[in-house]
Amino acid sequence: MGKLSSVWREADHRYRLVAHKCGNCGRVYFPPRDICPVCHRDSIGKMTEQELAGTGSIVSYTVVHDAPMAFSRQKPYIIALIELDEGPVITGQIVDSDPSEVDFGKRVHSVFRRIREDGKGGIIEYGYKFVVD
Ligand SMILES: [Zn+2]
Repeated sequence: MGKLSSVWREADHRYRLVAHKCGNCGRVYFPPRDICPVCHRDSIGKMTEQELAGTGSIVSYTVVHDAPMAFSRQKPYIIALIELDEGPVITGQIVDSDPSEVDFGKRVHSVFRRIREDGKGGIIEYGYKFVVD
């Protein structure tokens, strides 16, 4: 776990999708990586932050019926594999969308939603989710 990875977890990054771009080959990684897995040593010191637009398209998706307890109010829910416009492929939940609209190749954009609240007045966790355009 490098320095850049821990910085990414801090509050000001919470509402943005920040990736790392390799200055050697130009590949974009989300979640951010400190070293490019393609360039290895050649990428050291050349990884820079890049904010992602949060837009992309659905590569594949699955409807999850057997949700864990914490998510029981939302089930069933849709988890999709999304190829972002900058290149990274990430997994995200589809929210606020008619299930019939969810399909391969559909355009989506990211939104930030509360994932869970840890007790009354406790820590509130936010994360990115996706909505069909
Ligand atoms: Zn690279």
